[in-house]
Amino acid sequence: MKTKNMIFGLMLVASAAFGFISCNNSPAVDNELIEKSATMDLITNFPVLVSGEDAGILLMREEEKMAHDVYTVFGNSYDLPIFNNIANSETNHYNAMGTLISTYQLTDPSTGIAGTFTNITISNLYAQLVEAGSGSVEEALKTGAYIEEYDIVDLEKLIAATRNTALQQIYGNLLRGSRNHLRAFVATLKTYQVTYVPEVMSAEDFETIISNPMEPGNQNGMMNGNGNKNGKGKGGNGNKGAGGQKGQGTGTGVCING
Ligand code: MN
Ligand code: MN
Repeated sequence: MKTKNMIFGLMLVASAAFGFISCNNSPAVDNELIEKSATMDLITNFPVLVSGEDAGILLMREEEKMAHDVYTVFGNSYDLPIFNNIANSETNHYNAMGTLISTYQLTDPSTGIAGTFTNITISNLYAQLVEAGSGSVEEALKTGAYIEEYDIVDLEKLIAATRNTALQQIYGNLLRGSRNHLRAFVATLKTYQVTYVPEVMSAEDFETIISNPMEPGNQNGMMNGNGNKNGKGKGGNGNKGAGGQKGQGTGTGVCING
């Protein structure tokens, strides 16, 4: 059993590292992948699930897929990189939940087909959210912020309800990603002169998140590498240093948090 857990732990790291590399569009040799993996946490202990924890895993598997599928629709509709960047991060979250499903030998609810879900609530939500963002890019960005709020509240509930250290760690990673995604959507809305008002969480909780900067992940080396990349992209328009700072606010820095 110990050996098996170790193998799944390694799988988790590999999928997370792959997500990072695809995010940067830079093909990687195996050596690089191994080196980057070494900087990340390795989960080797998966405690036995207790009642209700399996349902939480299945819910988050569907919820992460929903976020990915909605952002992919928006990415095809609107010429803003934030949607596809965050969709890539959601793929990492979805894969992390898939690793938990494999590890605990649960039945995967994912249909593997864009826009279709086993969970009826998620299925209905998907249709409503795609519709809500179909009118304009501002509405799509607001819908993105709403999805992240929804995700944050669900993840906080799941973390509060479990003592399972593997679940806490993985949900914690997803939560940090969601806070960064929320910051990115809200900051991008600001560039459209839209002030986002929270719909799911309290104004206080929302303010606490928005008033804090983007949070780096466990993979510190990766975070720095990505920050530099953003700086270059924006720097083409003028001041390199300032461009680097702005990259995060506009959401191009989010994919590392997957
Ligand atoms: Mn997510
Ligand atoms: Mn998200």
